Amino acid sequence: MSDTPEFKPLRTLAPSTAPGELVMPKSADELLYEEVERGLLFTKVESMVGWAMNQARANAIWPLGFGLACCAIEMMAIAGPRFDVSRFGAEVFRGSPRQADLMIVAGRVSIKMAPVVRQLYEQMPDPKWVIAMGACSSCGGVFNNFAILQGVDKIVPVDVYVPGCPPRPEALLHGIMKLQEKILASKPEIGPIPRKRVLKQKGVA
Ligand code: SF4
Repeated sequence: MSDTPEFKPLRTLAPSTAPGELVMPKSADELLYEEVERGLLFTKVESMVGWAMNQARANAIWPLGFGLACCAIEMMAIAGPRFDVSRFGAEVFRGSPRQADLMIVAGRVSIKMAPVVRQLYEQMPDPKWVIAMGACSSCGGVFNNFAILQGVDKIVPVDVYVPGCPPRPEALLHGIMKLQEKILASKPEIGPIPRKRVLKQKGVA
């Protein structure tokens, strides 16, 4: 036999087990890794575009800059150097709802303020998300009375609830990270999104 190594134009994976050896089921990651090793990866254009859109949306969230009560002080702290929300791409607080895609409801919502909060939400372009920050905006908190809305989810669809009174800035950061996970796991809609359908899916008519 010649000592020249055999020429293989295509790379193939070595068998992972000897004949007769027990074959363990492979995880999805291992199977994907094998496909990458083979140099072949199948996907759909729709999936690739969806993945790219989700990455862009999750890592460049623009919150609306407004606060309603004491929780807003903790919300402001996340933009400072100590907590630095820019590490998560969400530091661009916008003064106009038309440029924002995240509403952080920080503080109690009075009955008088509720229509204003709803109008701000309506003015934000799709897709948009809402974080209820603190006990007051999540369920009314200690203010169980006629003047305070018992949860902002009565007027806008809430994606993430952050508990606490007030929640620490780290808790809000955690809420933003949870929202990022939710965005990354979602199926993005391409083109105009029918508003009624979105509100119906989120349980707010
Ligand atoms: S949850 Fe506590 S800190 Fe936040 S607005 Fe209500 S009372 Fe203030």
